[in-house]
Amino acid sequence: MVSKHPSPELLVEYVSGALSIVRAISITTHLHFCQNCRQATVLLTEIGGHLLRESDVLTVSDGLLEKVLTNLDESAGEGQVTGREVVSPPDQVIASLPLFVQRFFPDGCIKWRFVSPSLKTASISVGEEAYELAVDLINAGGKAPEHDHRGREITVVLKGSFSDAEGVYHSGDFMTREVGSVHRPFASLNEPCICLSVLSAPIKLTGLNRIFNPFLSFSPS
Ligand SMILES: [Zn+2]
Repeated sequence: MVSKHPSPELLVEYVSGALSIVRAISITTHLHFCQNCRQATVLLTEIGGHLLRESDVLTVSDGLLEKVLTNLDESAGEGQVTGREVVSPPDQVIASLPLFVQRFFPDGCIKWRFVSPSLKTASISVGEEAYELAVDLINAGGKAPEHDHRGREITVVLKGSFSDAEGVYHSGDFMTREVGSVHRPFASLNEPCICLSVLSAPIKLTGLNRIFNPFLSFSPS
C-alpha cells in the first residue's frame, strides 16, 4: 500500500510541465503505483484546462506552431526515453520492474556500479545535466552505507521495501530528502529492495564506508 506521496505543489508542477525531465520521471513512476495521485493529476489537468480556456487569448506569430513541431521532431531522438520496446529478453531485475522503467534499459541488461557489498547502482542517461537519475539495489537484509545529502534526493521504491530511522517504505512510496539529512537504509530480509533515485548533488558517506565515496561521485546524465 502506497503511503508516501509527492506534495500537491510537486503534482501541480508536474501537470503544468514545469518539472525537469528527471523529476517528472520520478512522478510518473510514482503514478504507476498510486491511483490517488493519478486521479489528482487528472483533476489538476482539468483545472488547468479550464483556467486556460478562461484566460485571455494571446496573439502569436505566424509559423510558431510549425517551429514548435520542428523542435519536437528534433528532440525526439535525444536520450533513451523514446518509448522503444525491449527487444531482447530482460534480465531478472529488469523483468521485475514496471514496464515504464524497463524502457530505460532497451538492451535488456543493467550496468551496475558496486558501491558496497550490499548496494549497487546504475545510472540512467536521459540527457539532463542538473540531476542524476539511477536505479539502486540493496540486497535482501542489506544495509546501504550511511550518507548525508548535499542536494535534494527523491526516491521511489520500485520493488521490495526498506526502512530507516524515520519509517518503512514500500513499493510506490515517494520520498524527498532535503539537504543535510542523514540516513542509512536497510532492505527487508525477504527480498532485495530496488529504488529509482534522483539526485541534485553528490551524496557523502558518513560512516566507516568513506572508502566507497568515489563510487558515488555525481555523474549527471
Ligand atoms: Zn500518490
